[in-house]
Amino acid sequence: MRIGVLAVQGAVREHLNILSQLEIDGRRVKKAEQLSGLSGLILPGGESTAISLLSRGCLLTKVGELASKGFPIFGTCAGMILLADEIEGQEDAYVRAIDIAVARNASGRQVDSFETMLCVKGVADDFPAVFIRAPYITRVGNGVTVLAKHEGAAVMARQGNVLVASFHPELTSDMRIHRYFIGMVKEYEEKEAVL
Ligand code: GLN
Repeated sequence: MRIGVLAVQGAVREHLNILSQLEIDGRRVKKAEQLSGLSGLILPGGESTAISLLSRGCLLTKVGELASKGFPIFGTCAGMILLADEIEGQEDAYVRAIDIAVARNASGRQVDSFETMLCVKGVADDFPAVFIRAPYITRVGNGVTVLAKHEGAAVMARQGNVLVASFHPELTSDMRIHRYFIGMVKEYEEKEAVL
């Protein structure tokens, strides 16, 4: 199984480390051509504006096309912002792959970063979640399932093949959320093999 990590800016290496610990072939994706041959993609945390500005050519457009075809995508923090249909206070969104609205930097400034235990539906009762100037989910559409909340705010959600989290599972040694995503990728591979 080959999973790509969008390698434009942000916590790329950390995701690749976890994938390699789980014996998954993780690949850096810097160009649209590098999306072929993958079974899933991770959009890391970092700075969503920087990632969108530095993404070359039609990279993000291609990511959107794949998402609409059922290809599994996981966005953490800035990656979640890039995947959201709507960004509060911003006219335009980016990939628009999941029917949610997000508020950027809702958990405060860099100095307000924190770690807390979260209950993640179907994954863990005690996941150590690291929040760094994290976005919160402020609206979820009908087809979206909220998987975790922090102080009443939705911080992790899934719509079919698209998974998003406000926090950074790649910055802890807990691999349960990555394993959950790999489960989504396996399901996709099995479905594709049948088609
Ligand atoms: N605040 C950042 C943004 O708006 C996200 C922060 C993060 O990815 N840790 O893109």
